[in-house]
Amino acid sequence: MSDTSSVLRIVWIYPDLLSTYGDQGNALILRRRAEQRGIRTEIVHVHSSDPVPAEGDVYLLGGGEDRPQILAANRLRADGGLKRAAERGAAVLAVCAGYQIIGETYGDDDDNPLPGVGILDIRSGRGESRAVGEIVADVAPELGGGRITGFENHQGRTRLGRGATPLSRTLTGIGNDGQTEGAYQGQVLGTYLHGPALPRNPQLADLLLRLRVGELAPLPPSWGETLHEERLAAAL
Ligand code: GLN
Repeated sequence: MSDTSSVLRIVWIYPDLLSTYGDQGNALILRRRAEQRGIRTEIVHVHSSDPVPAEGDVYLLGGGEDRPQILAANRLRADGGLKRAAERGAAVLAVCAGYQIIGETYGDDDDNPLPGVGILDIRSGRGESRAVGEIVADVAPELGGGRITGFENHQGRTRLGRGATPLSRTLTGIGNDGQTEGAYQGQVLGTYLHGPALPRNPQLADLLLRLRVGELAPLPPSWGETLHEERLAAAL
């Protein structure tokens, strides 16, 4: 956590532009699982007219329609705060449009490549069809493994460069390309999973927390694990 305080700062980026399918629930579940371990938290909402603070601990970006996505990318690039935060080791979870725009390039409506924030070595373009529906994937073993589920709705397809590693491998659904889903590079994670992703996959929430605060005490199973099991059974 930041040296200046013992509060875990969760920064929710651009709720006015990037917040489809309840992605804001990711901030709430992170707070809940941190506080259950006695870690104090603060959720900071950063609207697109505000500067992005560089001293947060975990940065969250959600999905968005094509036009708000372009607006968000341009503002984040001009602001520079998210890039500075990632460079000094903050954890990042970016979903769908957010995932695409933290990469090197992403496609506009006509599939012209536009520059992203450049903190994850991925490039996204538009696919021939829209990827819509439930997705089930196995998380990379080096990240702790386990099966995750979510809802995807995107036109984009994503190629990983040498700096990025797949977050997971798909069992059902499309994700990046029908084979892999999401990507990570150090403490920066991206995924196509909505749902929101962290309430549906408590192990992903704990992974993000661990990246920032180190080992965590286990928690007793809760509705989060029940929801996870239910969605898994429904999707496969
Ligand atoms: N506009 C992007 C796409 O269609 C992202 C959509 C989303 O965030 N759900 O690929």
